[in-house]
Amino acid sequence: DEMTFKKREADMAKRLSRRDGSKMSLAQSQKMSQLSADNAQWEDRQLLRSGAVRGTELQTEFEDEDENRVILLVHDTKPPFLDGRVVYTKQAEPVMPVKDATSDMAIIARKGSALVREVREKQSSNKSRQRFWELAGSKLGDILGVEKSAEQIDADKEHVGEEGEVDFKEHAKFSSHMKQKGEAASEFSKTKSLTEQRQYLPIFSVREELLQVVRENQVVVVVGETGSGKTTQMTQYLHEDGHSTYGMIGCTQPRRVAAMSVAKRVSEEMECELGDKVGYAIRFEDVTGPNTIIKYMTDGVLLRETLREPDLDQYNVVIMDEAHERSLNTDVLFGILKQVVARRRDFKLIVTSATLNAQKFSNFFGSVPVFRIPGRTFPVNILYSKSPCEDYVDAAVKQVMSIHISCPPGDILIFMTGQDEIECTCFAISERMEQLEANARKAAAPLSILPIYSQLPSDLQAKIFQKAEGGARKCIVATNIAETSLTVDGILYVIDTGYGKIKFYNPRMGMDALQVFPVSRAAADQRAGRAGRTGPGTCYRLFTESAYQNEMLPNPVPEIQRTNLGNVVLLLKSLNVENLLDFDFMDPPPQENILNSMYQLWVLGALDNVGRLTSLGRKMVEFPLDPPLAKMLLSGDELHCVNEVLTIVSMLSVPSVFFRPKDRAEESDAAREKFFVPESDHLTLLNVYLRWKENQYRGDWCNDHFLHVKGLRKAREVRSQLLDILKMQKIPLSTCGSDWDVVRKAICSAYFHNAARLKGVGEYVNCRTGMPCHLHPSSSLYGLGYTPDYVVYHELVLTAKEYMQCVTAVEPQWLAELGPMFFSIKD
Ligand code: ADP
Ligand code: MG
Repeated sequence: DEMTFKKREADMAKRLSRRDGSKMSLAQSQKMSQLSADNAQWEDRQLLRSGAVRGTELQTEFEDEDENRVILLVHDTKPPFLDGRVVYTKQAEPVMPVKDATSDMAIIARKGSALVREVREKQSSNKSRQRFWELAGSKLGDILGVEKSAEQIDADKEHVGEEGEVDFKEHAKFSSHMKQKGEAASEFSKTKSLTEQRQYLPIFSVREELLQVVRENQVVVVVGETGSGKTTQMTQYLHEDGHSTYGMIGCTQPRRVAAMSVAKRVSEEMECELGDKVGYAIRFEDVTGPNTIIKYMTDGVLLRETLREPDLDQYNVVIMDEAHERSLNTDVLFGILKQVVARRRDFKLIVTSATLNAQKFSNFFGSVPVFRIPGRTFPVNILYSKSPCEDYVDAAVKQVMSIHISCPPGDILIFMTGQDEIECTCFAISERMEQLEANARKAAAPLSILPIYSQLPSDLQAKIFQKAEGGARKCIVATNIAETSLTVDGILYVIDTGYGKIKFYNPRMGMDALQVFPVSRAAADQRAGRAGRTGPGTCYRLFTESAYQNEMLPNPVPEIQRTNLGNVVLLLKSLNVENLLDFDFMDPPPQENILNSMYQLWVLGALDNVGRLTSLGRKMVEFPLDPPLAKMLLSGDELHCVNEVLTIVSMLSVPSVFFRPKDRAEESDAAREKFFVPESDHLTLLNVYLRWKENQYRGDWCNDHFLHVKGLRKAREVRSQLLDILKMQKIPLSTCGSDWDVVRKAICSAYFHNAARLKGVGEYVNCRTGMPCHLHPSSSLYGLGYTPDYVVYHELVLTAKEYMQCVTAVEPQWLAELGPMFFSIKD
């Protein structure tokens, strides 16, 4: 209730001011009190989102003055297999990846950064359709190239380096075992051949012992600090030692970016084309060939391969890399590969981990040996903020400037939580650099600002590994991808916000949500360690030592315990794992999550009343898609419009294809509107694709119409791969021609659980949960004088508001017909 939030806010303000009493300026305290007023409402919604409180109770009937209109009744029917174990109606305890939801760090995380909001406001001011950027996927170039008005610059000057700078407290040295060989590796990689670089890596000194242990054991756990050469070298060593004679050497990665980047590096080291001897496979992208002996892939790809080949006959060795990340797919693979190891004596499994708690992995496989690669790191001086940083983005930007101005050469790595923050941070830093130059009336020492996150185009991603032009200091702004998966040499300064985006499944909302939480102590230590790879470094922690000790969890919560298990349940069921509660999980997911995911699959018709896979479910498993998308495709078959639905599903599987350069926003909005199909964003996507096809899939046509040609090409690729699967399943490519109503019905059949009814202008509420959901200004339904009573949406994007992404108008009769467990029509 509202009072509690207000009180908590006030408490926090008090605590903050006590710790930082003398330092808080008037402006700051005014900002704080305004924040707390805004926040009562804000917090309310955040708690609703997090599932900690319930929204409006389930509506059984909606009032309606117009007697001719059909009235939709809403209820909840449970599948018999839940056996009285209630879901949705019970107050579910979400597995929150945070130690204490009321700690300073948790509150700061929920609040988000005011600087980010400020930058976004600034960028979207004077735009007719505000906040359009949120979905449009802006590019760094736009951000950095954006024009600023004179008064904006003036306004900003006041902010720079005056108040609120982080006050740090020195703490113990972080790491001690320093070796003599201390030349900066960025220099090193310039002057030494690839072979010499390979021989310099810590793993090289233990090559023989490592190979010996692998020869003598079927399963080995390998522990080594990030950058020691596990990912790039072990595959090559195994190949050199003859392990690729009878099958491939596979290496799984939790992240797509890592799989691609590492494969590229190894192909260079082995002097072959990428896709020949060394290749990679990620979902919808297979860059391997008949010669491939070393295959990097995401763990999801290998997991799907076990469907076709339960014994993984193609592989001689599998390296499960980055096991400490405990990604969902890695955790499921643990259970499956344990069985493969038992069945195939010729199969070897290597599990790698960057952290020291590898004993757990060893125990899981029956006390197998743990091989440690000796570290070669330099001491890292850890500095804690003396008081909690209310706006960690702002604090990070200030810290970068202060390092750049006053510290000796060395690159900077900042950990932010996601793309949005990264873009804003880059923008803010480049602004401050300009101000610095304007104030000093001369050029400042150059700073190369480089973002890295998974959606960034790969050519821009590669930049973080290159030496900056003119010897500029590099400032890499990264998500936790730079924590362990990617190693950049030459980092001497790490700025750790202490936060990360963590996906967690909220059983009450019935969906996964990415939210910002404090990271674990283990993750914070990993981040700090990145500063000590090439010389003694410094880590600036934008949180207090007390928060580190008391507010952070010691280790991250494994993904399997906090996310939707729909895909996993489907997959395991089709692997004939009858009772999921009995599967050999290293850390079993909460029973409630399993049951909820089973419930959702039942709602979609993939499971029957006793929890067995239906024939529809069996077909759904074949597609590397989320269950609802797979269902949509198969409904397309039933409704004779597979051709159309296939295109929509493919378009939904790639990042937004709409391009919106900041300096031509109105022009691009107008171009986008030409594609609008008024009742559906899904159909708008279909329309875009069809027009592109009519224009011979041309790139220049895309540019003329403000569309990302890369995205569309990707969609075309995805489409052709899904088409292959359809063919394999002997599903004919039926088409409905120009009657697209039936396509909307197919969409409805897969997304009726995301049905929302009209409540106000552009405002909807989820029919079942009462969750508010807003029409996004970029939707084709927005402001075109057409607001349907009922819509279904693809997903909710939780930013400042809950925006429905990709919306389609539906008939209430369809909801009753396709989702009878939730809806019926009043007679
Ligand atoms: P680990 O898996 O133990 O963390 P890696 O095998 O990923 O270590 O990296 C070893 C070294 O290889 C890194 O320190 C880095 O210098 C180099 N390296 C890895 N990937 C790339 C890349 N894409 N470009 C340039 N150098 C790379
Ligand atoms: Mg690695």
